Amino acid sequence: MLSSLYYSALRGTGLTALARRLRDGALILCYHDVVPAGSSEGDPAVHLPVERFTRQLRWLRDHYTVIPLLELTARLAAGASVRGVAAITFDDGYTGTFTLALPVLRQLGLPATVFVVAEAPGQLEGFWWDHPVVAAAVTPERRQGWLTELRGDAQLITTALGAGSAPAPPPTHVPAGWNFVAAAAAAGIDIGVHSATHRTLTMLDDAELEREIKTAAEIIYTRTQAEPAAFAYPYGIWDPRVRRAVRATGYRAAVTLDYGLNTSATDLWSLRRLNVPASISQAAFAGWAAGVRPTAPPLAPARRLAVLVVEDEDNVRRGMVLLAKRLGHDVMSVGNFAEAHQRLNEAAERYDVFLLDVHLDDEHTGFDLFEQLRGEGRGRERRIVFTTGDSISARTRDELQRSERPVLRKPFSLHELSEMLERVAGG
Ligand SMILES: [Zn+2]
Repeated sequence: MLSSLYYSALRGTGLTALARRLRDGALILCYHDVVPAGSSEGDPAVHLPVERFTRQLRWLRDHYTVIPLLELTARLAAGASVRGVAAITFDDGYTGTFTLALPVLRQLGLPATVFVVAEAPGQLEGFWWDHPVVAAAVTPERRQGWLTELRGDAQLITTALGAGSAPAPPPTHVPAGWNFVAAAAAAGIDIGVHSATHRTLTMLDDAELEREIKTAAEIIYTRTQAEPAAFAYPYGIWDPRVRRAVRATGYRAAVTLDYGLNTSATDLWSLRRLNVPASISQAAFAGWAAGVRPTAPPLAPARRLAVLVVEDEDNVRRGMVLLAKRLGHDVMSVGNFAEAHQRLNEAAERYDVFLLDVHLDDEHTGFDLFEQLRGEGRGRERRIVFTTGDSISARTRDELQRSERPVLRKPFSLHELSEMLERVAGG
């Protein structure tokens, strides 16, 4: 709720667009299952209702150039521009992906890669994490244990929990049969490999690893007549040994669940993805696809602060004022050095915190204001937080270090801003 307000505020100020521009990276979305409208069965983080899925993809089509995953990775490899580029992927190969998601993609003219678990098709009992006994027992700590000590192994986990056979899941919630997979491959959907048994690869020995990486690809080729070229790590878990094995097997790319965008500097065998939580609001989806992800923000500040924002870019300034106001503070803002200089001369004592853009205009930087306050000899420069863009010059980095003042990198989350303001105001 609060985070969706936050994203709406961002959207209104153009900060989302700014973030997209700042983050000149390629977006790879990760979906799992798509289920009938109104369906409430299974983990909502995995089984996304089709109406919400459709809304997200329409938005994606309107804001990004959606290309096949392997074309995206080829562009990254070639150092070509990936600005505004996105790819769509699905993990696990659920039936709902083939029966509900792919028709939407076809209708919108969007390509996709589906990562199939090679030994899963035909398993009518579904994946272990969808088992009602497992779902009822899961906590973040237990899940961690299941993925490490129990190696993400369905047999070990359900046995440990005494989870017997469950009532059959809805048809969309089980792995798709080979007939669906092969038909999709023939229709031009890229089929990738999501291991053979969906165990935690980092916990397996070399022989088991080979089955998960190499044999899995052979099974999928035999069943679909399409040679898979991309790999998705089960649970997003990988390490250098697993990555090496995937690369050595001949895959052209591999995707993780590490959050982030991809640039020509990103390793092709540990690509980042944005795992789409099923419960995400449309506004949050937009902000979050742009690389703006908030953590849970506090509802009210410990104390109401007077904040001065000095920022030359209008959109950014409006966004920062809105965020600081949302945190319950009194916020003033100025857009250039001259105004800021004057404000500090007249009323520097009024402010608890100064948010200073390091870059102001061709002649002035935030450091000039820092020097002005320091020159007073009253310690007010210790109320400064510098703000910077994604990349800064070596000179700016040196100056930041010399100032010994904290830095917020734009775009920052509401939570980051909140923490920084409390920290600086608290001395
Ligand atoms: Zn998976």
